[in-house]
Amino acid sequence: MPATPAWPPQSAPRLHVETQLGEGVAVSVDGNAAHYLISVMRVKADDIVLLFDGRSGEWAARARDIRKRDLVLMCEAQTRTIEQVPDFWLCCAPIRKGRIDLIAEKACELGVARIQPVLTRRAVVDKLNLDRLHAHLVEAAEQCGRTALPELRELLKLDALLRDWPDGRHLFFADETGGMPLAQELAAHRGPAALLIGPEGGFDPAEREAIRAHPAAVPLSLGPRILRAETAAIAATAAWMTLNGDWQ
Ligand code: SAH
Repeated sequence: MPATPAWPPQSAPRLHVETQLGEGVAVSVDGNAAHYLISVMRVKADDIVLLFDGRSGEWAARARDIRKRDLVLMCEAQTRTIEQVPDFWLCCAPIRKGRIDLIAEKACELGVARIQPVLTRRAVVDKLNLDRLHAHLVEAAEQCGRTALPELRELLKLDALLRDWPDGRHLFFADETGGMPLAQELAAHRGPAALLIGPEGGFDPAEREAIRAHPAAVPLSLGPRILRAETAAIAATAAWMTLNGDWQ
């Protein structure tokens, strides 16, 4: 007996769109996304493409009206409802281009709910291209199966971050000068959380003092070696997901 083909096909391309999705909604696609579907993925009429808009879960849509540079995708059925990611924010200082892009990509894959860029005194980079970071988040979400992007916030100064810190959220602070062992501290502080990672130059002493004085702060050590900021961000996020998040 021939095997029943999987529906939607496992090989179906996934695409993030801005249009609000729902049954019967027609989504016009052009530009890079159309090039990707038509020329790279070789989508033909009646093929299925999986769509998500960050609000309405994931939808199987059928390709129609394929032309050279655009096509239409008709939403047929919802394949997944909107995801629930763990309540975990990554607060990290902006760092050089390729490295901050890597953090955005991995944070999305690891299931981070919010990315909050934080400006600190020793930051080598003090501007952030949010459009470029957003594009990395979209690509990562398409690839890893997320139905919503992490929320990407505007750059905030460290003192503003600390001043407006919400009640009831732990602030795990990766302190390269020595904090408490990670596993022990994560087990002792369950619930909504955020991880704060410094820039290439680390935190300056006054910043470290201000963070440590904050009632929500939990200083963490990530071991005896000094990690690059992107390694620290990715590794500590994975550790939180393992011990307190959705890797359990
Ligand atoms: N230039 C600094 C290192 C900065 S590393 C120095 O030489 O001391 C960048 C950031 O990664 C740090 O601010 C910290 O948040 C995090 N980090 C790196 N290694 C760490 C460790 N072993 N423990 C805790 N945090 C660490």
